[in-house]
Amino acid sequence: MKNDYLLLTPGPLSTSETVRQAMLKDWCTWDDEYNKDVVEVIRAKLTQLATSHYGYTSVLMQGSGTASVEATIGSAISKDGKLLVIDNGAYGARIAQIASYLKIATQVVAPGEVNQPNIDAIDTLLKQDDTITHVAIVHCETTTGMLNPIKQIASLAKQHNKVVILDAMSSFGGIPMDIGDLGIDFLISSANKCIQGVPGFGFVIAKQTELEKCKGQARSLSLDLYDQWQCMEVNHGKWRFTSPTHTVRAFYQALIELEQEGGISARHKRYFTNQKTLVEGMRSLGFRTLLNDDLHSPIITSFYSPEHSDYQFKEFYDRLKQQGFVIYPGKVSNADCFRIGNIGDVHPEDIERLIIAIKKAMYWEVA
Ligand SMILES: *Cc1c(COP(=O)(O)O)cnc(C)c1O
Repeated sequence: MKNDYLLLTPGPLSTSETVRQAMLKDWCTWDDEYNKDVVEVIRAKLTQLATSHYGYTSVLMQGSGTASVEATIGSAISKDGKLLVIDNGAYGARIAQIASYLKIATQVVAPGEVNQPNIDAIDTLLKQDDTITHVAIVHCETTTGMLNPIKQIASLAKQHNKVVILDAMSSFGGIPMDIGDLGIDFLISSANKCIQGVPGFGFVIAKQTELEKCKGQARSLSLDLYDQWQCMEVNHGKWRFTSPTHTVRAFYQALIELEQEGGISARHKRYFTNQKTLVEGMRSLGFRTLLNDDLHSPIITSFYSPEHSDYQFKEFYDRLKQQGFVIYPGKVSNADCFRIGNIGDVHPEDIERLIIAIKKAMYWEVA
């Protein structure tokens, strides 16, 4: 089965045919064949991809990526804890919203969607408020495509002895990083972003000593990160509740394909070339990016919508979809934009074809 179109979205995204084929079998979840040979291998590979340091472990969690964020926020912070959230987009805002649902004391730093957090201001905040126990930040803010300065933020948080939670949903697997070097205690990502699997579960890679402290703290049974981890540890890859077997098996294949590509650095290079080709092509057609180049990730890019009065996103979208490309609406609150993602089984040649398709879809120019 071939795809009818290429998904240029932040997820779910286009996967390889071989990843999709890996789902064509039903798995028994009581055997080593699934638990040890698939789940445990995935857990070990994820930990290795995240860090070369000892003392880290991983947990897989059913649901979309947000479920894993919620599991982490709801399990890692004790009832006396306080969370500092950096919110410069929808996903930072979502972390704050999760904390609010869970009635966790929260301090939000919101520099705006097109700005990075001010390091000195955060330093001052951490100095002033010693009740803060945890700091959460999004790596690639998929709302705009901004790459946040996690190195500075994590190192500052560590100077103040805070636990660091990173939403690396749209960057893990596509941007090289070592969470041990960075001082990240919990990294959250999901199956259907840069690892190029299909949707259905998320995962958390954690410093084991921090994960152990989560025991008994969860505010939800199904999102108890510690319990899920314990079950996987003790029973060698067993999930507490029904495991998304087909998705997990596809993810295993996706990890093998990541290795075959040359690992995260090779994938990063492809994404980087995709994004560069995209921005250059779009600029040649007269489009402008929302962010300055130095703030961009190699993951997704926001472009200002054309100012022409005939322009409508839906019409533009339909004309691109007819040509085999799916783009994404904007998500920024104070600017009219659309987004084009370049992660997934997407290659520079695809982006070159996209630019030609966009030129053809610019109906407002010919009208
Ligand atoms: C996609 C994404 C999420 C949420 O993932 P869902 O699978 O939609 O729940 C969270 N954070 C970031 C940065 C994302 O890109």
